[in-house]
Amino acid sequence: MKQIGVLGLQGAVQEHLDKLSQIDNVDAFSAKYRSDIENCDGLIIPGGESTAIGRLLADFNLTQPLKARIEAGMPVWGTCAGMIILAKNISNDARRHLEVMDIEVMRNGYGRQLDSFFTSVSVPQVSDAEIPLVFIRAPYVVDVAPQVEVLLRLDEHIVACRQDNMLATSFHPELTNDLSFHRYFAEMINK
Ligand code: GLN
Repeated sequence: MKQIGVLGLQGAVQEHLDKLSQIDNVDAFSAKYRSDIENCDGLIIPGGESTAIGRLLADFNLTQPLKARIEAGMPVWGTCAGMIILAKNISNDARRHLEVMDIEVMRNGYGRQLDSFFTSVSVPQVSDAEIPLVFIRAPYVVDVAPQVEVLLRLDEHIVACRQDNMLATSFHPELTNDLSFHRYFAEMINK
């Protein structure tokens, strides 16, 4: 059994736990304490408010231990606000959080165009079937370093990418009934 933590400080925690409970050989739990972060095999940083999640990580002294685990190779997946938490650069915000992934994100990038929207796309690396995507005041990626693999572009914006053990998505797979991205993340842990 692989232990997957969902960072349980703020945001869409339960929705990710529900999805993970449908995947074989995965035990999922809400990760709140340093010991949780040190003991999980992989971690999801959910959507919510990146400013709140970032502040709580700092207040609970979790920023450095989590950063160290990610840099040592623990698989991590940031959805929406979680993507902002992972990014080294944020175009329109002076705050920085874990600063582990070589991407530059625009907070509320879609928020300024459309508050939320739904679409369905094909992501060959992740699934053979079309994947439903939900965006809610979503960030997008404006720039990636060469070592970052782009998994999905919508129009001119990057909305899913991977760098080694780190996965980032602008959208919320936990709010759909599709398990493809959760399965893909579980595979990252198994390898
Ligand atoms: N707009 C939020 C932020 O900047 C992210 C929104 C979300 O996670 N659904 O943190």
